[in-house]
This record gives sequence, structure tokens and C-alpha cells, in this order.
Amino acid sequence: MTTAQVIDLESLQAEYDNMLRCIRCAACLTACPTYVVTHKEEEGPRGRIAIMRAIVEGQLDVTPDAVTHLDNCLLCEACTNVCPSGIEMERMGIAFRDSLTAGKTSEQPLAARLAFSWLFGDLGHFRLLARLMWLYQRSGAQWLARNLGILKLMRMQDSESLLPRVPSRFVTPKGQSVGEGPTARIFAGCIMSTAFAPTTEATARVVAAFGSRAEMTAGQVCCGALQAHSGAVERARELARQNLDAFGDGDEPIIVNAAGCGAMLKHYAALLPDESRAARFAARVKDVSEFLAGKTPRRPPRELDLTVAIQDPCHLLHAQRVSSQPRQLLRAIPGVKTVEIAEGEVCCGSAGIYNVTHQGTAAELQQRKCANIVATGCDAVVTGNPGCFVQIQAGLPKTIQVRHIVDVLDEAYTDAGLTT
Ligand code: SF4
Ligand code: SF4
Repeated sequence: MTTAQVIDLESLQAEYDNMLRCIRCAACLTACPTYVVTHKEEEGPRGRIAIMRAIVEGQLDVTPDAVTHLDNCLLCEACTNVCPSGIEMERMGIAFRDSLTAGKTSEQPLAARLAFSWLFGDLGHFRLLARLMWLYQRSGAQWLARNLGILKLMRMQDSESLLPRVPSRFVTPKGQSVGEGPTARIFAGCIMSTAFAPTTEATARVVAAFGSRAEMTAGQVCCGALQAHSGAVERARELARQNLDAFGDGDEPIIVNAAGCGAMLKHYAALLPDESRAARFAARVKDVSEFLAGKTPRRPPRELDLTVAIQDPCHLLHAQRVSSQPRQLLRAIPGVKTVEIAEGEVCCGSAGIYNVTHQGTAAELQQRKCANIVATGCDAVVTGNPGCFVQIQAGLPKTIQVRHIVDVLDEAYTDAGLTT
């Protein structure tokens, strides 16, 4: 027998007008990754909106089935992007998860509470975890865990295979800068300042090579995306306020090299509707490709002999509507040939921690994406999001390089090796 949950509907009710915009036209179905792999109405945007609307109207209880269909949503925003009526799925999805967890913090698993408050609340804590991961990878413990079957025994081999190779040096934002010109503030993030620290250093170098003074702003914290997507919305708001304090109320652009973080930072106005500084902050946020595409580099690019497939992260393509800028930047490099990936608008299955919490669907989407990448015949696939990077890398043959767009630009425009 299934038991319905009693939830605090306040957040979901606030999105009722958003739900009413759905005219059930079906234009979103083939863009939705969970509909594409299941062909079930309740696993598509239209079905999910109908479920949420029925809950708000009191016609449907919050059954485990309803929760599962809503929890299966990747919050990828593909439906939002194609919907002719202007629905905003991420807002609805976050509101539902907020309603589900409101007032139940103590019922969340200890690991989730620790991650959201202790780990992501302080970049120092995140660096400590990253250092432990580095030790695990370099001490031989990873080799033992993989080869003695320990990961298999713990059913962790799929999640563990997604761990990026952690570098020995991290970025600690404390106001250091590189380059000359108007200031551009770099949002370093938690994953990008640790597991992808060389790419974040390269981001500062490339921003400098395009005529700005790139500053690693002190006091910044995690963007709050994982918290908001998991229903810990109050925690996301606390982090947002810390970032508003750190980046101040000036007009310098805030440059982001992780599409998921950029989408979240641009979402601060909706997250903190009563704070006017949140809207001003959100307007300053630029994905690194969006920022660079409007600038002139200090020197012409080097020639690179590379055929690259361009992977559009959902939180860049759908949530930020940025797609021409990465193509423009890559095509400006002599010798670089760009190719397009079939079904490029469909999620790779990464979606924050979706590939850990929903391994079956995530693996199906990963295989689909990787098969489409292989079919392009590319030498390398270029992305702008760390989650997509590790998801694709884990599914592709080793003959295809996976690169962050900034690392390609760094090779073309800078004398790599400068440190920040
Ligand atoms: S495209 Fe928009 S209006 Fe049409 S069914 Fe999907 S969510 Fe509803
Ligand atoms: S956000 Fe993505 S997964 Fe969720 S309903 Fe929309 S298209 Fe489907």
C-alpha cells in the first residue's frame, strides 16, 4: 500500500500561475530527456505540470508515484526553452522540492545535511574534501579499491568512475589578479576551484588575454545550485547572500566557467525577490564564453589542428540561452573545425548529482550522448560545465579528448603557465 505525504504547499502554490501557462500543446515532449527515454506522459513536462497543478488544486495526493515522477526531472530547462507559453520548469521543480522538504530538515539524511551545510558552506571545507580525494587517487588506495573489488562490493563503481582527476594545487580566491584593464571578477566555485583548478587559472589568463584585469574575488562561496535543486532552498538563499556580500554592489562583470553555477547565479533575483541587490548581481553574471565573445583579444590566436564537437550544457543552452558564443570563439581559432552533435539539446544525464541519484536514466542519457559524439568523428569534445565534462569523459573512448572551452582558448591565446 502506498502512503501519501502531507507537505507544506506554500512554495508550490506560488508557482500556480506558472503552471496555468501550460496549454498542453506537446511542443516540449521531444525535448525532454526523461520523455525521450520512457515515452511516458508522466515523465514529460506536460505530465509533471499536470501532477503539480492537481496537487495544488487538491485533486491529487502527494503519493510516492507523484514524488518519483517529479524527482526524475533533471531540471534541465529544455522544456522551458521550447515552450511557446513561457512555462518555467526549474522554478516549479525547485518549488516542489522546497514544499516537500519544508520544515523537515531534521528528517533529511545526515549525509545530505552535512554536505549542504558543512561541506558547501565553506570553500575551505570543500578543499579539504578535494585534498582527501587527491590522496585517494595518488596513494594507491584507488587502485586497490578498484582492483580488489571493494567498489563493486559497495556498489560504488559507477559513481566512483565519475571522479575527475584531482590536481595537486587548488585556487583559493583571496583577491589575487592577473592582467590589466577594467576589472572582471571570477566566480571560482567549489568544483572549478578544486578538481578543475587548472581550468579556473586558465579562465583568469584568458580573461586577461581579452583585455581585462581578472580578479579572484575573496569571500565567495558555493553558488547554491545543488542545495536549491535538492529542496534545501533556505540554505541556497544563505549562500546567495554570502556571494552578494563578497562580490559587492559594483558594476564589474562576474565571470563564470561552470554553466550550472552561472545559471544559478543568474537565478538569484528569483531566489531573493525581496532583495533589490540580487537582481543587480544577477545582471552582472556572464558565462565566460558570453563575456569573451564581446571582447577583442590582445593578440591573434595560435593555429590549433583540431576538429571539435561542441557540447551544449543544458544550463548554458536552455537556462542561459547561450549557444552562438562558444561557436564564435572556437571558429575564430585558425585550424579549428567545429562539428555539431545530433540531439545536441538533449541532456547528457549529469544534471548536478542526478548521475549519482538516478544512475539508470543517467547512464542511458550518457550512452546516447556519447554515441552521438563518436558519430561526429571529432578529435575532441568541448564543454563549458564540469558535470557534463566528467559524465561524457566516463562514457567516451579514450581516443576522444574532453576539454573545457577555456582550456582550448588558453592554448590559442596565452602563454600557459602564468599562475593566479
Ligand atoms: S510546450 Fe509548454 S504549453 Fe506546450 S505542453 Fe509543454 S509545457 Fe505545456
Ligand atoms: S526540466 Fe528537463 S527533464 Fe524536467 S520536464 Fe523539463 S525537459 Fe523534462
